[in-house]
Amino acid sequence: MTAPPPPAQQLTRRLRDGLDRICAVMRADQWTIAGAAGLNPTQVHALTFIAGRAEKGVRVGAIAAQLGVTQPTATDSIAALVRKGLTTKEADPDDPRAVSIRITQGGRDVVRGIGLAITATERALEMLSPAEQNELLLLIIKTIRALQVAGAIAPQRLCVTCKYFRPHAHEDHRSPHHCDYVDAAFGVEALRLDCAEHEAAPATHQDAAWRSFAAADGAKSGETGSATP
Ligand code: SF4
Repeated sequence: MTAPPPPAQQLTRRLRDGLDRICAVMRADQWTIAGAAGLNPTQVHALTFIAGRAEKGVRVGAIAAQLGVTQPTATDSIAALVRKGLTTKEADPDDPRAVSIRITQGGRDVVRGIGLAITATERALEMLSPAEQNELLLLIIKTIRALQVAGAIAPQRLCVTCKYFRPHAHEDHRSPHHCDYVDAAFGVEALRLDCAEHEAAPATHQDAAWRSFAAADGAKSGETGSATP
């Protein structure tokens, strides 16, 4: 008879199983929303990613890395988006031999419509108190960062990896962090997962910022601030 996994591993597996069930609902949400826009979830994910980088455009390799798919799969999705008039392919301004993908006005309209859709997952999250939502946001940030450090996902535009982020720069427990980009204090609830103004900090700066952020457990999760960078 096989020995049961140690308790810590059992808990990790239970968490994974729970996340798997939530992901199943999120996938169903994605199919519903994507279907309403005449797309599939991969195309929606690609379009949303491109929309967040409208000023420079984005290369196919970056889209594939973000989606966690192969380059041919990303190429197929982009070709479908171009056929539907939601994106264009242009010469990359930094390298004329490379292709840059840009969103069209029609693509922006689709992304806006998708953003307005309320999903079953969001309705469930609304059942959590603001303190619980803050706690969950911190845990998600920690998990995403751990995945990023492990190389399991492409670098994300998180506050905690941004050169403009100064954790616990203020004594105000509701808005302890500071964004140098907008020169404003902000609280846990405003920590970004995908900020258009993000610029990756050097590795040493990221490590120091993360230690400072994590040492105080990313601020007290139950406290909410009002400023949003
Ligand atoms: S809000 Fe944006 S620019 Fe400011 S620290 Fe966060 S990621 Fe950086």
